[in-house]
Amino acid sequence: MALAEFNLIKQFFTRPAKHENTRLSVGDDCALLSVPEGYELAITVDTMVEQVHFFPDVDPEHLAYKLLAVNLSDLASMGAEPVAVTLALTMPTVDSAWLEAFAKGLFALADKYHFDLIGGDTTSGPLTLSVQAMGLVPKNQALKRSAAKVGDLIYVTGSLGDAGLGLKIKQGYAGQNTQQALQRFNTPEPRIKEGLAIRSLANACIDISDGLAADLGHILTKSGVGACLDYERLPLSTVVMEYMQQTGDWQMPLIAGDDYELCFTLSAEHARQLNIACTCIGVIEEGQGMRLIRNGVSASFNNSGFEHFV
Ligand code: ADP
Ligand code: MG
Repeated sequence: MALAEFNLIKQFFTRPAKHENTRLSVGDDCALLSVPEGYELAITVDTMVEQVHFFPDVDPEHLAYKLLAVNLSDLASMGAEPVAVTLALTMPTVDSAWLEAFAKGLFALADKYHFDLIGGDTTSGPLTLSVQAMGLVPKNQALKRSAAKVGDLIYVTGSLGDAGLGLKIKQGYAGQNTQQALQRFNTPEPRIKEGLAIRSLANACIDISDGLAADLGHILTKSGVGACLDYERLPLSTVVMEYMQQTGDWQMPLIAGDDYELCFTLSAEHARQLNIACTCIGVIEEGQGMRLIRNGVSASFNNSGFEHFV
């Protein structure tokens, strides 16, 4: 390893580990994590590529925040508690100001959700960032996509379409009160607390990265069930409603990605025990696919999530 690379890692990505399960952090060939008795490790990785996942003018602090948030969101949807992440960083040049801002965004989330950066890889090339996140979940309690049951109610946390509106604003849509939507697009909040709160109540769960319709579709396929969604019940912010009134684009909250809310299903009995901010939007039924009821009638819509290889 070249000195420049060594110094870079030392300067920007090395700090004392805080989590009790981190036994060895940055600086050796591997990091070491201990997994407490009765728990299993939930592991996920996500990559972000310039031009594909973010704009070249992105604020590096926001970029780090979002890169981690999308991984933490996967842990949240399984009901896992974050422990540690690794970071693979490929960048064209070493820009200290950029790295400093990036590390600031990264450690802001690490402090907020109590996990360590325990290792990674640093290479030169077109700007590409991968984070692998690891979390702990009690054995056999992880929330899977495959366990939705007929009769379950379908819930979502937060509100839908705000990040989608943020993207439209970045692409030139001139709306009012853009701050909230841009914030949801730039720095989504992983629903860790909510994932832990529903772990003992929900049957199936997924995080909404590609749009509600596409992601709920994964639950339906994996669980071998269908769903009926009530459009009027979708939780929408004032800015998203204003956008829809101005453009007529009523499908946006169903198909826009990047919200990182949780969509989960549970029995009516368990639903009564929910104590997080969430909204019931429909019900799991027999069959396959999704029916959408809008204005009292069945509505069809363009149900295709974001695809990389088309
Ligand atoms: P190796 O060649 O054995 O894979 P490296 O020389 O790539 O190790 O990295 C040295 C140490 O620095 C390792 O502990 C590795 O995990 C860590 N590391 C490398 N890049 C990063 C990074 N971007 N963020 C955090 N840790 C990193
Ligand atoms: Mg090695």
